[in-house]
Formats: sequence, structure tokens, C-alpha cells
Amino acid sequence: MRTQAAVVQYALAPLAVELREVPIPEIGDGEALLAVGAVSVCGSDVHQAHNTQSWPVNVPVVLGHEFCGTVAKLGRGVPGFREGDRVVSETAAEICGTCVLCRTGRYNICPARKGFGYGIDGAMAQWVKVPARCLHAIPDSLPFELACLSEPHAVAYQAMCVNTRIRPGDVVVVLGPGPIGLLCTKMAALSGAGPLIVAGLARDTERLKTARLLGATHTVNVDAEDLNAVVRDLAPLGADIVCDATGASNALAMALRIVQPDGQVTKVGWSPDVIPTDVNPLVHGNVRLQGSFSHNYPVWERVIHLIDRGVTQANEIVGLKAPLPGWRDAFDAMHEGRVIKSVLLPA
Ligand SMILES: [Zn+2]
Ligand SMILES: [Zn+2]
Repeated sequence: MRTQAAVVQYALAPLAVELREVPIPEIGDGEALLAVGAVSVCGSDVHQAHNTQSWPVNVPVVLGHEFCGTVAKLGRGVPGFREGDRVVSETAAEICGTCVLCRTGRYNICPARKGFGYGIDGAMAQWVKVPARCLHAIPDSLPFELACLSEPHAVAYQAMCVNTRIRPGDVVVVLGPGPIGLLCTKMAALSGAGPLIVAGLARDTERLKTARLLGATHTVNVDAEDLNAVVRDLAPLGADIVCDATGASNALAMALRIVQPDGQVTKVGWSPDVIPTDVNPLVHGNVRLQGSFSHNYPVWERVIHLIDRGVTQANEIVGLKAPLPGWRDAFDAMHEGRVIKSVLLPA
């Protein structure tokens, strides 16, 4: 059996991740084997490495769900692709395919959905097996190290452009300047938001600078400043839209405090903490609370186009590139806030 090196989470314990030899996947009908060109590290990969995730993990599992590469081998029944094609892969590695959600293109919320990197082996390896329905061709002009960021772009697009309607001039607040919060900031900016306020902690100074580069008009360090006062100064009734992209459950209370009556809170960040929150402001303010999870085919096509044209400034969030054996520093750099996003280049 041929093997390859892969970044594997082998147990549900802190730091139970290592580079180990695993079999190169065998493909069947309707599947493709990709030579991984780039795989970006997600906050969720870092959570799994610390065993602080809020989703079930099927250990042992190869990490990595933000990836792209070259089609190395195709099973039967994969129309539209050829060996050698440059592609990105969606993340819904397994769906039922028959429920009403799957049949109407909303397979991202199929109850049977399993994603790469926690339910199914992911792409922090030289080779990864994907169902052909996950593939999207990418233009030659789009380098792998940016194409792999399609997934977090798709998360942000789904949150801010599908599950939220932003009109030009809407007051938008983004809580949490992590990779998803920053990309939500960019999507809000592209949608015409303004003022566009991004809030983070004292340790987020560098990330808040990046938020400005991506289109934020104001940034707030909530450890030093009163976010509610900043928002009320700009918009006395509160923000039209608040995006909660933090990994802290108590941020919802802040979101409900600063949203305007009849506004919307879009929650894309999640956390294992279960905490009591007063949700009465939802009723009193006639506020919509909208969760946002994952993404589907048209969203991917759109973000690939946006990244390729450079309008999302995707390069601004990549702070570290490393070969696969450098995975640990790539994870630590994100965990410690040294970089916004790390990219592994297995080839
Ligand atoms: Zn991700
Ligand atoms: Zn389904």
C-alpha cells in the first residue's frame, strides 16, 4: 500500500495532532484524486488541535478543508473535468443527496452532511480524495495559495451576501477580526456598508489594521473603548446589521445591545461555551437573528471570480506559507495571533 505524510488528529485530546504516514486514498466512480496545491489552516483546524471544537470529530482524521490542487486521477462518471485541471474543492464531503435540502441546492445544511477535516479525511496531505460534485475549475491566473482561501471567502459571502441583505449606506458592525470576520468585513464593504465598524480585543491590534485595509471605516478595541458608545455616536438608533464572527458565545449579548430596532444580527462565529443570554431584546427590538453555516455551489463560483479579480485583497490575510512538515508553526502562528492565516503548500 502506498502511503503519504498527513497532518492527522488521532485522538480527542489537546495537541493530539501529528504528521504521520497514512494510505494514499483509492478513488471510486464519481470521485477525483487531487494533488493538493495549497491548504489553508482554518481556525477550526487550530481548535481541533487543541480539542476545543464545538462539533463532533471522527478520529483519526486528516485535517484540512480549505484546499485546491490539480486533478491527478478521475473515477468513472466525472463529466467536465480532466486530469491536470486546476480546481478547488467544496467542503461538504458527504451529503445524503436525497433530502429536500440536497435536492434544492441547500446541501450545506443537509443533516447528513460531513465535512472534510473532521468527518472525512481532509487535505493536509499530498493527496486527497473528493467527490466530483465538490469540484470547481479555477482560472490559470489564480495561484493555489490564494485559491485555497475560497472556502473562508464562501463562508463570509454566505453570511454577508446571502443570509444578510446589506444596502449601500447601511451601518454594519463586525464583531471579531479573525479570518472570517475580516472576510465578512470585505464582503460588507463590497456591498456598500458604511460606516463599517470592526471590533476586536486589545490583542487584535494588527488584525484591526488589516480590517481598515479591507474597508473598515472604524475599528474599536473593546478592551479599551465602549463599542456601544462608538456605534451610537455614528448611528443613534444602533447598527442596521451586526455580524458576530467571534468565537465567544457572550458576544451575542453585545450584538443585541448595538443592533437597531428592526435590524439583523447574523451569527457566523460559534463556540463550545453554552452561556445564558437575555434574548428579550430580540423581541423588544423586532430584531432578526440569522445563523449562517457553510455555503453552496453558486457561492463558490462567485468567490472564485472575486478572488481571481483581486477585489477581496485575499493576499492581505496570508501571513505564513510553509511546506507540510511546518504545520505546527503554521497552527501556532494563528493560535498566537502572529498571522491571520497560514497556508500549507504540500507539493
Ligand atoms: Zn474553514
Ligand atoms: Zn441531504
